[in-house]
Order: sequence, then structure tokens, then C-alpha cells
Amino acid sequence: MIDFHCHIDLYPNPKEVLVKAGAKGVYILAVTTTPKAWEGNQILMAECQRVRIALGLHPELVAERHSEVQRLIQLLPQTKYVGEVGLDGGPQHRTSFKLQELVLSRILRACSDNGGRIISLHSRGATNGVLDALESEPNAGIPVLHWFSGTQQQLDRAVNMGCWFSVGPQMLKTRKGKALVEAMPQDRLLTETDAPFSQNAGLPLMPWDVQYAVLALAELWGIEPVDVDAQLKLNLRALTNK
Ligand code: MN
Repeated sequence: MIDFHCHIDLYPNPKEVLVKAGAKGVYILAVTTTPKAWEGNQILMAECQRVRIALGLHPELVAERHSEVQRLIQLLPQTKYVGEVGLDGGPQHRTSFKLQELVLSRILRACSDNGGRIISLHSRGATNGVLDALESEPNAGIPVLHWFSGTQQQLDRAVNMGCWFSVGPQMLKTRKGKALVEAMPQDRLLTETDAPFSQNAGLPLMPWDVQYAVLALAELWGIEPVDVDAQLKLNLRALTNK
């Protein structure tokens, strides 16, 4: 099982979650919302074999914490993974949108200067903005668009630009989400939870709940869940060996 976008450090009991996920053999990309959190996670997760930690600055925090982009850029040589970064075009974040664009372009430039990174990106309400930013920095690395919610046309554009995708149980519950996932290349797809923000029946999803996404993918692709697992594992290996 692979949870390629999880905010482990935002659970009330991250250590317990890590122990359980470890016992279940879940591969995790622990995304962070600030560079300081990344530094904390380095300590918290030092012993976890299947966990990688992504260095992030969440677009929803950029209004208040944009100056931390300096720290992110300083830390960048120490990690292969960046996230959560991106743009949020929602009404609550409209006033910071220009700043978000500035911060994202600085991060992508720094990724490029460092030889490229694997980047988990937020693009809610801002798909074109994120794709434009990526297009301006073609050597930033490999973008993984998390919980993609654009149009089919924007999806085609993202696919043509070489983007990867991480999809979760929630996305696979809606008709729109399913149609998008169906159009994503099967060899550029990973599962995610975006937990603990994403919930099921009032409880936060757990990393191993990616299993629900695997079952939905099996139905969508017309193959067995075990074959979905095999495909996703191949994908993870291909991505991380790039
Ligand atoms: Mn997230």
C-alpha cells in the first residue's frame, strides 16, 4: 500500500499512526506544511523505513508564512521530495494568490537549480496557475498533482506536460473524480489519503485506508486489486528511481 500524500504530523498521535502503518507495510510520503515541520519530522520519523518526508510550504499558509520560503530553499539540498506546495484559488485565499504564485515560482526555480525534485502539488481552484508555473520551470523535476480537481481538458494538459497524479478514496467516490482518474495514465498514478484532513464517517482516514482507493481503481480498470497493488508498486519504483 502506498500513501503518497499524508500529513502524518497533523494527527493527534503521529507516533501511533507510524507504528501501525509500519506494521502494515504502508509506503508513505509524509508531506509537511512548513519547513519547520519538515525539520521536526526528520526527528519524528528517523526510524521509519518506508516513510519519506517532503519539504513543504502549504499555499494556504503563504499569506502568513511566505518568508519561510528562504528556509525551504536552504533545506532543499537535503531532500529529494518537496510538498505540500502549490496554489489555492479558493475565496479565502484570494488575497494571497499573487504571493502564492511568487512563492511557488521561487520553490520551483530552486528545485530546478538543485537538479529537480519529486513535488507533491496542491492545485485546488488553481489548476491553470499550477500548470503555468510548472511550464515556466520545465527542469523543476517530477510534479505529482495531488487530488487533481480540474477539467478533462486541464488533465490532458497536465498529462502532456508529464505530470503524475496521486488519488484518494474521496476522489474516487464522485462521478467527476472517477472520470478524471479513468483518463489518467495508469503508469503515472499513486494512491494517497491527504489525511487527517480527509475523513470518512467523521473520522480521519488512516494511511492504510488507501486500500479503498485500490478497490475503486480495480473496479475502474477492470482488474484485480492485487494487480492494482502491483501496478502502483511499479509506479512508485519508477518515480523514485528517476
Ligand atoms: Mn494535503
